[in-house]
Amino acid sequence: MGWMPENALRERLLEATRRRGYLVLCACSVAVHAAISTRELPQGNWRAATVALLSAALLPVILSRRVSAQRLDTLVVWCANIGAGYFLWDFSSRGLDLGARESLTVPLFFAVWFGLLPLKQAALRGGVLYLVLAALVLSRWPTDPVPLLYTGFLLFLIGQMTVTVRQLQQELSRTARYADLALTDPLTGLLNRRSMERRLEDHYSPQASAPHAAAITPPITGERAAPIGILLIDVDLFKAVNDAYGHDTGDRVLVAVGQTLRACARSGDLAVRWGGEEFVLLVAAGERAALEHICARIHRALAEQDWPQALPRVTVSIGAALSSEAQEAAELLKLADCRLYRAKDAGRARMNMDDVQASDLTGEARSFSAAPLELTPSR
Ligand code: GH3
Ligand code: MG
Ligand code: MG
Repeated sequence: MGWMPENALRERLLEATRRRGYLVLCACSVAVHAAISTRELPQGNWRAATVALLSAALLPVILSRRVSAQRLDTLVVWCANIGAGYFLWDFSSRGLDLGARESLTVPLFFAVWFGLLPLKQAALRGGVLYLVLAALVLSRWPTDPVPLLYTGFLLFLIGQMTVTVRQLQQELSRTARYADLALTDPLTGLLNRRSMERRLEDHYSPQASAPHAAAITPPITGERAAPIGILLIDVDLFKAVNDAYGHDTGDRVLVAVGQTLRACARSGDLAVRWGGEEFVLLVAAGERAALEHICARIHRALAEQDWPQALPRVTVSIGAALSSEAQEAAELLKLADCRLYRAKDAGRARMNMDDVQASDLTGEARSFSAAPLELTPSR
């Protein structure tokens, strides 16, 4: 589909950013450890060279699309766990002081844990690493306590920043969820009238509506001005369904119609609940043949496909129009509505794309956006 929920979009962006971050981190690790090893390898210290090689081996894993971001997270946490253990062993076995290099390495472990693990687990790992390090440093007393205090301060700072960032993320996720809710219909899960109107405004006056419309309902095709088709779809004699089977069953029929429309839509089309028992399908192709083809599919799907057993079958009438036939969104909708009206008049369960032309619409009739939600109350 051409539309993606705001939250899903955010998740995808975050994932891509994380992958890039790992790539930079790994490349830095290769560079730094390779630089260290050029000095230390001649003296028989192979440690930095080993870390450089291991980091280099991770690069293709990070680049591989087959390894999911979640797997990468787990891998990075394990690298930090093993790295921290190795660091402590190296630190104690060589009797090192807490120098600049160590003061930079330890916060890296903190950053990975706090970035990827639940807060408690991250704090536990960070706390244990810090306490063991403090014990090792203090066991060599008298020694300079400042680097140790400095590292403790960094641990606190990273923890504090993590809490703030997570609160911010929660807030953003909530906002994105509200944005999704504002643009979707709660009963059918399709897009609602508001998002569809924005999409149409974006089509006819891209400059005026671009800032919000592009973010919320991206253009159907790459070409912003590419012609589109609109199908205004009204369930036939729906009131009778409600009267005969009850409102709840009526609701389930509407959900089933929505699912059928979604199944008939192609990638790039937008399925919308316009209101009541009326739906819109915005079709990415602006050609008559494409609209006729989709309408035939919808009629066939409603008549033949796996319609839920317990639900009464329904038919739909469709008014179709091409964006090239109108000067603005309101005119296009009015045109489709008039054609839908004619389809009803002609006996229902059919599509109409010819009977009314844009030139037939009166000035008053063109101002469709002011019309109430029920498109043609007389139907
Ligand atoms: P036509 O073929 O001319 O369109 O006839 P119709 O009965 O479908 O049209 P009419 O406008 O007379 O009735 C539409 C009905 O749709 C009336 C209204 O109660 C019902 N309806 C609108 N929204 C909902 C909804 O969300 N759930 C249910 N169950 N019914 C709804
Ligand atoms: Mg209706
Ligand atoms: Mg109806």
